[in-house]
Amino acid sequence: MKAMVLKELCSLEENRTPLEMVDLPTPVPGERDILIRVSTCGVCHTELDEIEGRVPPPRFPMVLGHQVVGRVERAGINARALKVGDRVGVGWIYSACGKCKFCLEGNENLCPDFKATGRDVNGGYARYMTVSEAFAYPVPDVFSDSEAAPLLCAGAIGYRSLRLAALQDGQKLGLTGFGASAHLVLKMARYQYPKSKCYVFARSEKERSFARELGAFWAEDPAEDSPENLDCIIDTTPVWRPVLWALENLEPGGRLVINAIRKEDLDREYLKKIDYPRHLWMEKEIKSVANVTRRDVREFLELAARIPIKPEVQEFPLEEANQALVELKERRIRGAKVLRIGT
Ligand SMILES: [Zn+2]
Ligand SMILES: [Zn+2]
Repeated sequence: MKAMVLKELCSLEENRTPLEMVDLPTPVPGERDILIRVSTCGVCHTELDEIEGRVPPPRFPMVLGHQVVGRVERAGINARALKVGDRVGVGWIYSACGKCKFCLEGNENLCPDFKATGRDVNGGYARYMTVSEAFAYPVPDVFSDSEAAPLLCAGAIGYRSLRLAALQDGQKLGLTGFGASAHLVLKMARYQYPKSKCYVFARSEKERSFARELGAFWAEDPAEDSPENLDCIIDTTPVWRPVLWALENLEPGGRLVINAIRKEDLDREYLKKIDYPRHLWMEKEIKSVANVTRRDVREFLELAARIPIKPEVQEFPLEEANQALVELKERRIRGAKVLRIGT
């Protein structure tokens, strides 16, 4: 089968073709697995982190991709919930042990044996992939294969961030950074918390006007103070400075949720400016978001179908995965990037 693989870590600035097209044997599903004929796979920022070594795969070559939509081609002998031909999606969570205290408490995203799709196990930048049927989700009919792909990561993790924010209707929500995940969070927040005002901190005027279009009450540069203190802020930027800005804008008892798998080192120096009374005192909280659970993915897909949330997508053929990654790195973003692998 055709697959785009990562053979070694590299910097995308020096190597603009980190992935190589190869022919791999079609994987064979285990007893409880399904073999998926992949039709689309979303391109995520986390792939850049994998390629550049911030979230490296444990072995090479690795097939990246964790926003996978396709159809069941074959089911293992003990896979009974799904049938050949069913349309399914796979997200970042590939498996968890099911036995540890985290798994038993519903926090399988924190499992020490957590395996990520397209990092620890081959993912969706390929014609086929296998996964346990327990970690594949039905895709609501309202979405096309392309529209569903970006929902499986940016949407699901955005949903988890909003859940961790524990916002109450009427409280003020801030969003720092306005990329793929944040714009979905704004749409969800407007639906789930209709009385809450949303404040968006974004660097480009294009992002700010997009935020206003989607119903943000206020949208300005991250260096600006918000007109009122906010109850909760979700930060999706890859850097540190907005963390300090966000803490300054929080209400007493407010919460900052950092939705980023890694922060870059570029501006770490700002952390030295942290001032306890200004940024942290008055019971301000900071919480990060790690991975997703199956519940997050399932609940988000249902919510997205109800609202409905339909992401704007830009398709690339599988062969052009490198091009899509470079454009993402250079922030040439026109909707979510999705690889078209088949039908
Ligand atoms: Zn992702
Ligand atoms: Zn576990």
